[in-house]
Amino acid sequence: MKITKEQFKKDFKRRVREKFANEVEESSSDELFASLGSVIQAYYSNAWKDTRKDTRASQCKQAYYFSIEFLPGKMLKSNLLNMGLLDTVRDSLKEMNIDLEELCNVEKDMALGNGGLGRLASCFMDSIASCGLPGNGNGIRYDYGLFKQKFVDGNQVELPDEWLREGNVWEVRKASKAVNVNYGGHVYLKENERGQLKPVYENQQVLRAVPYDTGMLGYHNNMVNTLRLWSAEIPEFEENRYQSIEERRDFRDLTSVLYPDDSNYEGRLMRLVQEYFFVSAGIQSIILSQKKTGVAMLDLANYVAIHINDTHPALCVAEMMRILVDEEDLSWEKAWNVTVKTMSYTNHTIMAEALEKWPVSMLQEVIPRLYQIIEEIDRRFVEEMSLLVDSELVERTRIIKDGQVHMAHLAIIGSHSTNGVAKLHSDLLKGVVLHDFYLLYPERFNNKTNGIAQRRWLQLANEPLANLLDQTIGTSWRKEANDLHLLMNYKDDSKVLQQIADTKYTNKVRLAEYILKTTGIDVSPDAIFDVQIKRLHAYKRQLLNLLHILKLYFELKDNPEADIYPRVFIFGAKAAPSYTYAKHIIKCINEVANMINADEAIQGKLKIVFLENYNVSLAELIIPAADVSEQISLASKEASGTSNMKLMLDGAVTIATLDGANIEIRDIVGDDNIAIFGLTEEEVYRYYETQNYSALKIYENDPVIQRILNAFIDGTIPNIKVEGQEIFDSLIRYNDEYFVLRDFQSYVDAQKSIETLYRDKPRWQKVSLINTAHAGHFSSDYTVQRYAEDIWQIEPIRKVGNDSEQ
Ligand SMILES: *Cc1c(COP(=O)(O)O)cnc(C)c1O
Repeated sequence: MKITKEQFKKDFKRRVREKFANEVEESSSDELFASLGSVIQAYYSNAWKDTRKDTRASQCKQAYYFSIEFLPGKMLKSNLLNMGLLDTVRDSLKEMNIDLEELCNVEKDMALGNGGLGRLASCFMDSIASCGLPGNGNGIRYDYGLFKQKFVDGNQVELPDEWLREGNVWEVRKASKAVNVNYGGHVYLKENERGQLKPVYENQQVLRAVPYDTGMLGYHNNMVNTLRLWSAEIPEFEENRYQSIEERRDFRDLTSVLYPDDSNYEGRLMRLVQEYFFVSAGIQSIILSQKKTGVAMLDLANYVAIHINDTHPALCVAEMMRILVDEEDLSWEKAWNVTVKTMSYTNHTIMAEALEKWPVSMLQEVIPRLYQIIEEIDRRFVEEMSLLVDSELVERTRIIKDGQVHMAHLAIIGSHSTNGVAKLHSDLLKGVVLHDFYLLYPERFNNKTNGIAQRRWLQLANEPLANLLDQTIGTSWRKEANDLHLLMNYKDDSKVLQQIADTKYTNKVRLAEYILKTTGIDVSPDAIFDVQIKRLHAYKRQLLNLLHILKLYFELKDNPEADIYPRVFIFGAKAAPSYTYAKHIIKCINEVANMINADEAIQGKLKIVFLENYNVSLAELIIPAADVSEQISLASKEASGTSNMKLMLDGAVTIATLDGANIEIRDIVGDDNIAIFGLTEEEVYRYYETQNYSALKIYENDPVIQRILNAFIDGTIPNIKVEGQEIFDSLIRYNDEYFVLRDFQSYVDAQKSIETLYRDKPRWQKVSLINTAHAGHFSSDYTVQRYAEDIWQIEPIRKVGNDSEQ
């Protein structure tokens, strides 16, 4: 987009005056941010309108990405970058004595997601638009995002995230596109005058679903897709029906909170209503708009692809059937054909506790008609499959069993594509977890390894490195991430290696300042910055990291002169509020941090920093400053991981188990440029089979481990009487479900190799460069292009980066 500085300044000053009856010089940061956002939105409004117009006019097929979470973070800078206005705006503001960074800090993170799953959805939104693909998001506009985390005496405390308090400059309320979502009550079938069985509803409740649209801008291509988030309101005609305040509040609060659970399933009624709410609103709105352009329902799959991101939107299958059969009068067979062709599904986990299933009674209560439809889908599935395969296989794969509705089964049976999110994960789906379904529908299974938007995680988050790359290899990598490979030409160029190291140092200084300001802990940018940032979960094994820290600490206690390279261990992690064990690990890390940071005997060689409230913005600050990337989940548990990709892109060296996408990172950078350790997935499964793992034996035979674990229960680590005992018991009494002790020695060895490597500065710099040079492979641009070609069958309507600017 071409806007001169003069034009921008004029527009900006006028907007400040119009909005706040104020001059720029007299305005607060809040006012300036609000004005800037609204100017920027006005700049892209034409492109937004044109994108919509062009998709409608060409009647091209569009994808709709249904996700109960989106985690975009802040949008100001990324919008400016994608419009090609970042420098223009930054310079213009500077000439008006305004610091763009300061205005960026005013913006609240849009944190409508827990972690990786929601962040993936947002990287996809960026990449879909940047690749010129017609694809939109569909989700929930939560009034409160993921809770804000504070530490009080080392314990996690959750505070509400009132991200909408000052309004949201990017969203547009589209009241005219509101639809009604019905639920509850009773339903029975009655023959109509044409002899068709149609549902008759009694005592249904009605919610008005109001969409709020946010533009999703492509990088330098004038493409603006739509992220449509639904908010629940009580329709006017229903106002009197809700008797008590509580009753009314109940429903108005439907889209109030995001459930703060990650990798864990919680069967709460309100969550089920949320799921139905955004599914029903989304499908209705898609069908309405297709009908408006004259698309026949039988042809819907040629115009629309609907993606089910994890099982939370799996009701899409049944809702589509309801509309096609009950409202559009299609026969069941035809409707089913259309539905399966339209839907596709991504599985995100193999962890049993995360697999979503709902009691039949809850579905009957909340969505009685949808339950009837699911019963019919299940009945027909059983009938059809019983002719083809043995009855036990059918029993295992059916949707309704043991009084529960299995959402993954519904998603697989009702769609034409099921994908995992990394090679290993997809193989485990086919071979183990969903093997039964693989036998039934082998052609439906495929892999789509996750990816990350290099624009946010390198161009925006790490400008020093991005600018250096421009000078070194040119700017093409900004559009074609694989061109980062050109960096390999400089792997032995000591000048470039040193320049890259300098950018890392700059980023470490910036993070060190933030750490000092927010925690009072003084860390040296000359130390190794060793980073583990992700949700707190037993399978991610932050505990393994902590045990290694304690090992180093005791070594230094025994011998203050021990030759340990100074390290700063940096954590960022939220625990689900109901996940006691994870919260206890937070408490223990914080107490160990206090103990070690305050111990002068170790001469500051070890520092531990647990930063509060890990979110996208904090990730953008930490990742460019990381030397070491901790990806240490138990093999087979992390479906893909994406922070592993972000950290690699910014030049961190990975220490990792052979899990998720770590394997693909290893394959692409080579064994010499990553530190691999721990059990393989086969070895883990062998332990499950033979049942011959004994954590107690390891403990009894290893004095180092004894000393470390005893520190949790003998008062060595202060203030963790309850928490320390629980962690000790999880390892010894309950036999260490995640094989922390089994992997400990090999982790220690890998850490040692990291340290040795770091001491060899030229070698370290080269390894770091090799990681950045190969990270283009994990750009979500390529991931969404594979979705577009293999699954959605959609094509670009804009050229990639057809703007001439960089
Ligand atoms: C990338 C990201 C995640 C995912 O991290 P993993 O290590 O892949 O689990 C979670 N939260 C935020 C804020 C992120 O940016």
